[in-house]
Amino acid sequence: MIKGIPVSEGYAIGSVYQWHETTLDTSKKKISNLKAEIDFLHETIEKTKAQLDVLMKKSKDIYGEETSKIFEAHLLIVQDPEMIKNIETKINEESCNMLYALKTVTDDYIHVFENLDDDYLKERALDIIDVRNRMIRNALNLSPDEMVLPKKEMILVAYELTPSQIASLDLNYVKGFITETGGKTSHSAIMSKLVGLPAIMGFDNAFKILKQNKEIIMDAFTGEIIIDYNSETYHTYLYKRDQYLSYKDSLKRLIKEPTRSQDGKTYILSGQIGSSKDVSQVIENGADGIGLFRTEFLFINRLTPPSEEDQFIEYKSILEMMKDKPVVIRTIDLGGDKQTPYLHIKSDLNPSLGIRAIRLSIYHQDVIYKQLRALIRASIYGNLSVMFPMVASLEDIMMVKQWITDIKVEFDALGIPYKNFPIGIMIEIPSAALMADEFAKHVDFFSIGTNDLIQYTFAADRTSEDLDYLYRPFSPAILRLIHMAVKAAKDNHIHISVCGEMASDQLALPLLLGMGVDELSMSPSQILKSKDFVLNHHHSVFEYAADYVMKLTTEKEILKFLKDNFQK
Ligand code: PEP
Ligand code: MG
Repeated sequence: MIKGIPVSEGYAIGSVYQWHETTLDTSKKKISNLKAEIDFLHETIEKTKAQLDVLMKKSKDIYGEETSKIFEAHLLIVQDPEMIKNIETKINEESCNMLYALKTVTDDYIHVFENLDDDYLKERALDIIDVRNRMIRNALNLSPDEMVLPKKEMILVAYELTPSQIASLDLNYVKGFITETGGKTSHSAIMSKLVGLPAIMGFDNAFKILKQNKEIIMDAFTGEIIIDYNSETYHTYLYKRDQYLSYKDSLKRLIKEPTRSQDGKTYILSGQIGSSKDVSQVIENGADGIGLFRTEFLFINRLTPPSEEDQFIEYKSILEMMKDKPVVIRTIDLGGDKQTPYLHIKSDLNPSLGIRAIRLSIYHQDVIYKQLRALIRASIYGNLSVMFPMVASLEDIMMVKQWITDIKVEFDALGIPYKNFPIGIMIEIPSAALMADEFAKHVDFFSIGTNDLIQYTFAADRTSEDLDYLYRPFSPAILRLIHMAVKAAKDNHIHISVCGEMASDQLALPLLLGMGVDELSMSPSQILKSKDFVLNHHHSVFEYAADYVMKLTTEKEILKFLKDNFQK
């Protein structure tokens, strides 16, 4: 059985489309000014060399000699005199564009290497592909995220997909995707749930095993990928897929129902978004509001940051679309696994422990002030709350509140209208959970970010497929930290939500709601399923389960109890 990490549920049946970024437009064009094309080739080589040089030095500092050799080899490829000569000759002989010549000449090299017997040399073809793609992207002035796919139904197979690439996929054609990298709580995984696409990540050797055009079945509930199947297996999965889709469809009857338990307790189920484009999904899935708008998605995959005005328009339109329903907008959480080229985030040895989220805002106050100004201006258009990510100390809280006060003072002086709004923080660093009883006296709400809380408690990079086994939401350590935060919120009468992936885990639901969490914020695609679960249970049962579980000391016992009592 071949398996990866299931990150976004669903089934997909279809043929593999391997995406290597070679599908960029390199079609042949007739050119009259051949000298300009050759100059363009040399400019592209220089640009690529400069990038590789930086990468080589950086990787040597961070990872040591061995990895820097990869880029050293890439540098040799980009400067290979024979290859350059062959490209120039092709341009001259065929009066064609540089991109076409580059693509066809390198294709020949790749073909030769791929057909060698020696496995080591065969792998070198991948290096040429990598360098060639970097050159093409540079020549087209594209950011590394841009992708072009054929218009046909497919299961997309890629080495890696960034959140913005996933967001840009056309779901009429892409029925699911499989990547070699990534784990359950990587932002790419979150994005795949957000768009509702079956996804399996961390699948080693995807390109070797899943050949181009091969018919496969993806079970993104278990992470299984089925190749070479018979008619019986095919029909079993076709049936499972239909059942799943019709179950999802049947949930639509719950859209307008309040989320109330059998014994009359009402909870808030809210949706998460990455831009105003996702709001329709939130509304269509009957969410009670927006529990988390990850504004950093407005900042990635572009060459300059959005202006205050661009942001204001975006925030205003989301607030207006949601009418009077609550909208929690989180200030930028860049850094870690969400990088931008223009902020020049210093490359920390460990980006998740480095300049990320509000730490980045401290270093780039111009960026956070612009964002807060846009938010405060937008406050009059709806029911806004502003939340800060990765708060670690009371000093952090005082600082972010001061930022808001500064802007309000300025707006008062200038007569710019605004409305006061709740200010909240994420509890996603263990220090914040430990200090929650103090923090609760200074903010209006908490939202527990279990993705990071787990990553930082277990000291395990959330994007690492190798450390996926340390994503342990049901470990007593995590549950105790969550419990501390919930108790602090209750004691101080402030609102508390959970907005990590755990919030939509059906086994976690009884615990979180039983502990007293007011709101669960999740990908819109998960809301109706969670509502269905709540409607069929008693709050008193959740309370009993939470009390019981908090006395258990191993994850194994906790999971057994939850599965025995709450798994269908
Ligand atoms: C979290 O850490 O759980 C969270 C919701 O924030 P993000 O996933 O964006 O880091
Ligand atoms: Mg987080």
